[in-house]
This record gives sequence, C-alpha cells and structure tokens, in this order.
Amino acid sequence: MAVFKGVAASPGIAIGEAYVIQEKEIEISTEKIPEEKIQREIETFRRAISASKEQIDKIRQKTLEEMGEEKAQIFQAHMMILEDPSLVEAVEKKIKEEYITAENALYQVTEEYVNIFMQMEDEYLRERASDIKDVSARVMKNILGIQANTLADMDREVVIVAKDLTPSETAQIDKKKVLAFAADVGGRTSHMAIMARSLEKPAVLGLSKITANVKTGDRIIVDGNEGVVIVNPDEQVYEEYLNLKQKYMEYKEELKRLKEMAGITTDGCRVELSANIGTPEDVCGALQNGAEGIGLYRTEFLYMHRDEVPSEEEQFKAYREVAEKMQGKPVIIRTLDIGGDKKLPYLDMPEELNPFLGWRAIRMCLDRPEILKTQLKAILRASGYGSFKIMYPMVSSVEEIRKANGILEEAKEELRREGVSFDNKLQVGIMVEIPSAAVTADLLAKEVDFFSIGTNDLVQYTLAVDRMNAKLSHMYDPFHPAVLRLIKNVIDSSHDNGKWTGMCGEMAGDPLAAPILVGMGIDELSMSAASIPQVKRIIRSLSLEEAKGIVEKVFKMESSQEIRNYLKDVVGSILKRN
Ligand code: PEP
Ligand code: MG
Repeated sequence: MAVFKGVAASPGIAIGEAYVIQEKEIEISTEKIPEEKIQREIETFRRAISASKEQIDKIRQKTLEEMGEEKAQIFQAHMMILEDPSLVEAVEKKIKEEYITAENALYQVTEEYVNIFMQMEDEYLRERASDIKDVSARVMKNILGIQANTLADMDREVVIVAKDLTPSETAQIDKKKVLAFAADVGGRTSHMAIMARSLEKPAVLGLSKITANVKTGDRIIVDGNEGVVIVNPDEQVYEEYLNLKQKYMEYKEELKRLKEMAGITTDGCRVELSANIGTPEDVCGALQNGAEGIGLYRTEFLYMHRDEVPSEEEQFKAYREVAEKMQGKPVIIRTLDIGGDKKLPYLDMPEELNPFLGWRAIRMCLDRPEILKTQLKAILRASGYGSFKIMYPMVSSVEEIRKANGILEEAKEELRREGVSFDNKLQVGIMVEIPSAAVTADLLAKEVDFFSIGTNDLVQYTLAVDRMNAKLSHMYDPFHPAVLRLIKNVIDSSHDNGKWTGMCGEMAGDPLAAPILVGMGIDELSMSAASIPQVKRIIRSLSLEEAKGIVEKVFKMESSQEIRNYLKDVVGSILKRN
C-alpha cells in the first residue's frame, strides 16, 4: 500500500482500477537541414497546422455536444493559438533562417510563449501555458506522424492516472467509463480540475510522482475531498474507504434535497445564502446549488486579459446577462477591485513595494473617475433588468464613500440626460475589509445601505499576514480573536443604524464559522456556490439562541486554536442531528 498527498481538485471518493496513460515520447530532431529541404519542412509544418485545426474542430464539436459552450471555449482558444499569424510566421522564419526542423522550430517558439505565461503571477494565466503546450504537442505529433492518444476506446470503468491530461485528451475520454482522475501535475484552476468538477468526478492533482508508482490494473482510491490517493490499499483501508464513499454519497443526496430550502434556524432566524461569482457563466452553478442571490460579483475579470478598459456597452451586456439569468434575485455588483495581486497592463499601474497596501480598488478608481463612472453607468443601465446593489471595495474612510457616491450621482445625471432609465432606489454598500473601516463601522454605517465583510483582506490586514504568503499560511486565521471582535463590531454597528451586514470572504463558506456568524447576527453569507448546501444544513440544524450561546463562549477564549477546537466539536455534533 502506498499513500500520496496532492491537491484536492474535485470532491468525491472513487475506488477502482487504475488506467495509466503513458505519454508517447515526442523526439525532436535538432539536426541542421540542408537548404533544399527547407521548403519541404515548411510545407510539412503547414500541413500539420491544417490537420491540427481539423482535429481541434472535431473535439470542440464533441465537447460542445457533451459538456456545453463553456468547456468548448477551451478549444476555441486552441484554434486562436493556431490562427495566430505571429506564431506561424515565427516558426517558418526559424526554419528558414536557422536551417532547423519544423518540430524543433515549433518547440523553440512555443517554449518562449510558455515561459512567459509560466512566470505570470496570476494562477489562471499560469495555467494557460498548458493550452499552448497542448496545441504545440498536437502540431508536433502531426509533423512527426505520431498517433494521438485517443482514450476513446476504454472498455471498462477506470481511474485515469496521468502525468497531465491536456484539455483535448480529457475531452476525448468516454466520461461514463471514468471514475476519477489522479495526476502528477495541475492545481485547482487547471483544465483537468475544471473538467473534473464539471463532470462531478473526484480528482487529486499535483501528486508529483503518481504515474511512476501505479501500474494499469492496480487497485486505487482517489479521495478528492482530502487530496489523498492510495495505491493497492490493504484490506482494512479498503473497507474504510468503501464506507466513507457510501457516507459521502448519502451526504450528497441530502445536500441536493436542501437545495430548495431556505437558510433558516430552527427558531426562525433567516440568513440569506448567496454565491460569489466572477463571470456571467458562474450564475448557473450558483443557482444549481440553491443560491438565493449573488452576494459578490467580482467584476475585475471583465477587465483582465485584454488591451483596454471594457466599454460601457460591453460591461452593460455582461451585467444584464447576470441580471437576466438571476431572474429578479438580488445581485451585489462590486466595482472594479484591481491592484494587489491583480494588475492590468494597460492601466499603467506603478511597481509598488507593497501592492496590497497600494494603489488598488476604490483608491485607483477615485483617481481615475472616468473608469469608475463608465462602470457605474453600465451597472445602472443593467439595473432595470434585475435587482442590483452596488458595492465599493477597499473602503477605508467616510470620505471615500462620499467621493464614490459623488461619481455615482454624476453617472445617474448623465443617464437621465441621455434618457436612459435605471433603478433609482438601488442600494449602495461597501466591503468592510480594512481594519479602519471595521473599527469605524458606526460612522460608515450612516453613509451606506449595507456592509459586506471581506474577510480575505480583513484577516491579512488585521493580522499583518500576507494572504498570498505560503510560509505564513498557519498565521492567516479568520478565527483569531481580533478578527472575530472586528466582525462583531461591524454587524452591531450596522444594526444600530438600521442597516444590514453580509459576508463575502472565504470565511462565509467555512462550516466552522457558520454558528458564530449566525450568533453574531449576520444577515447574509455569500460564498463559492459549492459551499452553500453544507452551510445551509448547519444553519437549519441550529437555533439562534444556541448560536448566541456559542458566540458568548468563543468570545471568552484566548486563542484561535482553542476556538477552532471548540467549534469543531460544536459543528461535529450539529451535523449529527436529524
Ligand atoms: C475579501 O477580501 O474578502 C474579498 C471577498 O475580496 P477579494 O478576495 O476579491 O479580495
Ligand atoms: Mg478583498
């Protein structure tokens, strides 16, 4: 028996037979070629490009039919890479000028692209390097006449074990035959992870050496909840996992039943349970998991991976799409929160020593009011199609709210002059994610309709622990007594002023936090869609009185460790009810 730990990329437990996918080696000839063969090499390359386009088109079509538009878009992106004239030109130029083989020229050119992407800070962009590798490997195989791994002829149910599965390989697998995935590379945002989650198959990725330690036919357990893979388990472990798998399936069934039910405590206290989204496409997952609204729409994705600020019209269309898909359910749109770890190359953002303490979010927007005003006009125009609220990020003072509201008034005035109608009563709130805002919540509450606590940033600023620094991750703790006191102050201050408070940081979806947040009087919790059912289950098994008692106890505790231990017991016993 051997146990491997990796990234829990898609939840669930699978037990079955391993099927190891062996990469066929691509051998790149680095020989120089004689002048008279150059034209032939270029033609081979062009033929390989057309063959690759045909193959990609077929895969795109299959993916579209089996998995829908969103997943098929990956292959649209592959097509775009092949259609990029600068790539084709660069390869042909290399063949001609350096007298090298087509596969060698292609390798060198794509490697440059891959390196640029790999060095990007943004995890999503880093993962895009795998798209270029995938396309490049396909063209190379076509140059060299190597048959692609089809995977389509699997005749039994298996757990796929691979170094990495490219999107095109994943798309060709017969999904009915796949129990789970285990791979040497990949993280939570890799294609394999995204595909596995959308297929609802367990996946553990980033296992480093799993392919070297498993043979086709071995018995293998993939625990996508814990990020663990066990090869050839002994009888006792095997029995344990059969049991765990059964329990997990029952649990999933129960969560499905919860979908239509409200987040309400046993004594009738309502907590609105909403989802965080980044794009209009995410609305589907939110609704499937029973979200009552969108508590955080991170609009910055609209501004990323492009050359200029999106126009009012383009933004309007995206916001209207969200409004229409949500069919009147509330949507909180956060205005542009860029800076920190997210940079926009076209905005001429300064190099900063401390980007998280720098020119970001509302600070940048107040300095570049035309950007904010364009966005606010787009939001206002779309507000007529649904139920919108506006939220400013990274607010640290009363003045910033007043300035932002001044720009909002200008946006409204311009629309009135243009004869465009909008929801005139839409609520305006702020993210409370800077300690100064949390401490002065009593003052800020008078300026807004609501607060939403952004614990991702609030924790890092309160504890002076960089949220991106893996070395400090053990210190990054939402259950620190300081953070809990700030949260309580924000909720109390909003209620004293007749306003409401939600939470949209990761803490909102943490089952351990649910009882204390309810006990402190939180009005709304917004989280990644998949977390909603479990949080709902906890809230529905608890009374407000009990939750208040839990808060009272927690506020007497001195350390987050003590708090966590206590909450683990509490939540463990709540989950055993009914
Ligand atoms: C937060 O800071 O808690 C938050 C929700 O915003 P983001 O993670 O986008 O900074
Ligand atoms: Mg934040």
